[in-house]
Amino acid sequence: MRALRLHKPYEFHIHDEPIPQPQPGWAQIQIKSVGVCASDVHWYKDGRIGNTVMSDPIILGHEASGVITALGEGVDSLKVGDRVAIEPAKPCMRCEFCLSGHPNVCPGAPFFGTPPTDGCFCDYIVWPAELAIKIPDSVSFDAAAMIEPLAVGDYAVELSQIVPGDTVAIFGAGAIGLSTLQAAKLAGASKIIISDPIQARREMALKIGATEAIEPSEVRNAVNATTSARGIDIAFECSGSEEAVCECCEIARILGKVMILGIPDGDTYPFAASASRRKQLSAIFVRRSNLNTERCIEYVAEGKMDVKPYASHHFTLEQTKEAMELAITRGDGLIRAIIAVNE
Ligand SMILES: [Zn+2]
Ligand SMILES: [Zn+2]
Repeated sequence: MRALRLHKPYEFHIHDEPIPQPQPGWAQIQIKSVGVCASDVHWYKDGRIGNTVMSDPIILGHEASGVITALGEGVDSLKVGDRVAIEPAKPCMRCEFCLSGHPNVCPGAPFFGTPPTDGCFCDYIVWPAELAIKIPDSVSFDAAAMIEPLAVGDYAVELSQIVPGDTVAIFGAGAIGLSTLQAAKLAGASKIIISDPIQARREMALKIGATEAIEPSEVRNAVNATTSARGIDIAFECSGSEEAVCECCEIARILGKVMILGIPDGDTYPFAASASRRKQLSAIFVRRSNLNTERCIEYVAEGKMDVKPYASHHFTLEQTKEAMELAITRGDGLIRAIIAVNE
């Protein structure tokens, strides 16, 4: 099978590797669509995320969908031919965090495309069957691949303990920001101000329910106008911009909340210390998604959320480098680049 490995920053090679075979309890999945996440782009250009550094050539890609092609012994929840969305993390389900309902922070849980765990830019993977989640026929493979970023935004909104009527500001209208927007809307947010420097993303945000979609530099004025200078109830940082974290602290109301989802280039954040302290803000750093994938599949199947428009650009596995370059420049109105590994 084809396996695309990142050998060092900016350098992919396609390898011919044996098709992996499922052990008992596992499934073999032929990969269909894989989204190019900002985290994949960090690996591609920097060879690291924060203090985690790649050493051996690695297969990236974790926002994936596929078809079951073989099953290990003892799997009766799936059958060959089932179409699935894939949970990219494999928590231990035994540690104190897993047992207390937070498998998303299981220390050292393997995660696709994060050293040393290979990801989905390849023809086949094997993975525990319970982490391959059946999708209805009405959900496309592209949409199924976008369930992962949708679940991240949905989880952040859940963690924020939003209540109907809350006002929300979101920095970044990529797949995570748009997912946060949809989840906030479903949760009853009264006003949602979203910002992004890219016009196509702002237009998309308006289409799927933003009250206002503006340039990042206009957020402070917009929040003041919308809230009569009271400040926003919940600010979500989904852009990876370090300054946006600072802005979130500035625009949040007294006793407001700042939710941080973006992955910054560097490994430190500047933030507005006095504004945050005087307002007694709560900040929560959000890690991935948590036990909400099935709920998100239902939202999409029922038409309550729409992830189809995220898949704005398509590439073959061999064109992944081009997809990465486009993701770096965020050119051409890109929302998510999709690698169509198998049609
Ligand atoms: Zn991702
Ligand atoms: Zn665990």
